[in-house]
Amino acid sequence: MANPTIEKHEFQAEIAQLLDLVVHSLYTDKEIFIRELVSNAADASEKLRFLKTSGTEIADADVEPTITVATDETAKTITITDAGIGMTHDELIENLGTIAHSGSKAFLQQLKDKSGDGKVDATLIGQFGVGFYSAFMVAEKVVVFSKSHIPGEQGWMWTSDGRTGYEIEPADDLARGTKVVVHLKEADFASEWRAEGIIKRYSNFVSFPIVLNGKPVNTVQAIWTRSKSEVKAEEYDEFYKYQSHDTDAPHYRLHFTADAPLSIRALLFAPAKSTELLTMRRDEDHHVDLYCKKVLIAAQAKGLFPDWLRFLRGVVDSEDLPLNVSRETMQDSALLGKLRDVLVKRWLKFLDEEAKADAEKYAVFFREHGHCLKEGASIEWGDKRDAIAKLLRFDSSAVEAGKLTSFADYVTRMPEAQKEIYYLSAATRESAEGSALFEVFREKKWEVLFLSDARDEYVLEHLREFDGKKFVSAENADVKLDKEPTGLDADTAANLATYIKTTLGDRVGEVRTSQRLASSPAIAKNGDSEMTTNMRRMMKAMNRDADLPPAAKPDFELNPEHPLVVSLEKTRHTDAALATQIAEQLFDQSLAAANLLDDPRAMLARMTALLERVCGQSS
Ligand code: ADP
Ligand code: MG
Repeated sequence: MANPTIEKHEFQAEIAQLLDLVVHSLYTDKEIFIRELVSNAADASEKLRFLKTSGTEIADADVEPTITVATDETAKTITITDAGIGMTHDELIENLGTIAHSGSKAFLQQLKDKSGDGKVDATLIGQFGVGFYSAFMVAEKVVVFSKSHIPGEQGWMWTSDGRTGYEIEPADDLARGTKVVVHLKEADFASEWRAEGIIKRYSNFVSFPIVLNGKPVNTVQAIWTRSKSEVKAEEYDEFYKYQSHDTDAPHYRLHFTADAPLSIRALLFAPAKSTELLTMRRDEDHHVDLYCKKVLIAAQAKGLFPDWLRFLRGVVDSEDLPLNVSRETMQDSALLGKLRDVLVKRWLKFLDEEAKADAEKYAVFFREHGHCLKEGASIEWGDKRDAIAKLLRFDSSAVEAGKLTSFADYVTRMPEAQKEIYYLSAATRESAEGSALFEVFREKKWEVLFLSDARDEYVLEHLREFDGKKFVSAENADVKLDKEPTGLDADTAANLATYIKTTLGDRVGEVRTSQRLASSPAIAKNGDSEMTTNMRRMMKAMNRDADLPPAAKPDFELNPEHPLVVSLEKTRHTDAALATQIAEQLFDQSLAAANLLDDPRAMLARMTALLERVCGQSS
């Protein structure tokens, strides 16, 4: 007879998929499951400590918040017990049976994408908020005993083999908190020395005592409260790895204290690798924990930093925060705003110093997290915006391929005659260099920033200027070649332009002669001075056609120095039909070069006709 008190549940579909992938595609670094379970025990203990300080009534309030780990080689088990907040019946279902975090779906996607080549990094699992399930890499069964801190709640036992679902039944005689018993497939992780090595490696900074088979194993101390001179670089790195579940050392570290306007002790890190570049997804979570006098107020506190600093990891501790405030109201308190302001400015100042001290190291950072700074540059105002602008780096005609420049360096290279900072959007450096729009700048030896990221133009538009110099797109720049004209004189050129305008009719906006083309016969550009061609293309790509002003007709600029244009002027008096074809062809080619030609068929047919004519002449 089935026991009537046992409830059977199925895992939510995503969890079932996740478990399947965890069991079948993660082979390396299985040991991290211990780190994940210990970190859950620590989280639960932190939450309890917070509830206590905020005066909530708690069951078994005097129990010490120790985390105990017990290994049993004969039974092939490892058991992790905490005296944290525990879970009620419904919380067990919610927390261990459904995907609650935004990050977990991203992890699932990564697993799916990569499970073919088996190269998924198991150590990432904790960063995506699904650490608990890592136990199933090694377990044939996981049993969770839990009793909530809410007075009067009873205890529960949750059991699963990670395949078919899970069962829940009441459990008596439990202490407040959670006990996770991992029944291992192999005895390996049930060895005490193995477990000790793993805990020391990954969990040394847990801020509660960890006791393994009766022996304390970790150093309990809040590293950010110690003085900088006392903390060794390795300790910082270890702390970072522990806190961020990363396996690489951080790229940057900032440990600072401030007393005014707020008392702050902060330890901030920039990871070596961006998880966003890895997953191609925006990270919706924040990763800096907020403490008040070593008591965790909010893990992964949203609102402590703006979204564009979401790559930061670390800890902020401020004595000025009211301890008894709830985590929800933390979000919009004025104090938090002030704290955020100080932190952001301090971090930007730090980056500026780092960039000056070691430009190469900074460039490596920028390649990983620069897109976040650009995001900041396109939404912040005032001092912050200016501070971020100094930190931006772009590809440019004046630096070697693969290198980046700052605006400040660009400005130092500007010749006196140049008053503006120019930029050109193109998918690659090669296409920027080959663009007709670049010719005049190459001739004049004026530098142009090459923007390859679709969002870069937004950034420069928002910034408007740097050091008093306006950002101007190469497309809309009013620049002329320095050479004396020797081709068509001004009147003839103007007449030719009128002729072309008549010939092309309403396909074209303005037709004018250009003094910025060196080797191209002509150039077409989006006739809209408000929006560059690239920007319009991008809005289209984002399906934001509705926000677009109606497309103006493209403008057409002729190079009166170019032999083809010079001979077109002659041809229009001798062979009107041919001249029309050439004018149309020149226009279409220029549209194509500017990515403005939607349908090339007419152009190609005309091209064929012209080629036939050339071949006919020469035979
Ligand atoms: P994360 O820790 O990032 O939230 P996990 O998969 O490790 O993701 O854990 C899922 C959830 O299960 C936790 O958020 C927590 O609510 C709950 N949980 C796990 N272990 C414990 C524990 N020892 N005590 C209380 N709650 C726990
Ligand atoms: Mg966890």
